[in-house]
Amino acid sequence: MAYKRPDGRNYDETRKIEAKVGIIKRADGSAMFSFGNSKAIVAVYGPRQLHPQHLQNPEKCLLRCYYDMMSFSVAERKRPGPTRRSTEVSYVTSNALKKVLKLEDFPNSVIDVYILIVEADASTRCAGINAASMALAHAGIPMKELVSSISIGKIGDAIVADLTKEEEDYSIKKDGKEIKAATDIPFAFQSRSGKISLMQLDGKVSIDDLKRAISLGKKMSKKIIEIQTQALKKVKEDKK
Ligand code: ADP
Repeated sequence: MAYKRPDGRNYDETRKIEAKVGIIKRADGSAMFSFGNSKAIVAVYGPRQLHPQHLQNPEKCLLRCYYDMMSFSVAERKRPGPTRRSTEVSYVTSNALKKVLKLEDFPNSVIDVYILIVEADASTRCAGINAASMALAHAGIPMKELVSSISIGKIGDAIVADLTKEEEDYSIKKDGKEIKAATDIPFAFQSRSGKISLMQLDGKVSIDDLKRAISLGKKMSKKIIEIQTQALKKVKEDKK
């Protein structure tokens, strides 16, 4: 039987997306992005001189990303502070973003990107990358292109976009045992070149299904880029 999504969405349908630029006055750039109940807010500071001096690179700017899930973002209070997971997400986020930034334009400097997850229902790293990409553009940092991120999943035989936590945890009964039957593949795509700047895999996938996932991810990322661009245009118009 074909997989039916719990919230009735089509396979190529995201949850409701909301995007806004310019949400934090004191930051150099800021934005929020949400997929349904996964909401990220981002503040960007910089480029500014990096201290202590011995960390400075005379050839390029350092990009530092801090991803953090608030304790109230999930039903059971999450212990505050960094975890192995948040360190990993910060690292892959920084990698996904730095490819589109002209970091060599700002030697000896640093750009700090604070990503706060205020509500979490899976795909939060994707919401964070989308908000961060918009916030960097809002800060006026030279970018070759935008980055848009989406999680693609394989559930049963279906390839679906933008998984919820319930879908990530989808399991089936086999030989009387519950086994995990969902694969989650978060992607980030560069807007012009279409290059993949993030691909992670939680679960198993065949080469054919991975190709199907990439193709759906590319299609969905175009929709996200459109939303990011509109939000950036709106803040420019509001300034006029
Ligand atoms: P992503 O949010 O990018 O999908 P994960 O796959 O690691 O990243 O996490 C999936 C979801 O699991 C999160 O969005 C959140 O809803 C939930 N989650 C992650 N860490 C915790 C935690 N420490 N406590 C409760 N829920 C969590």
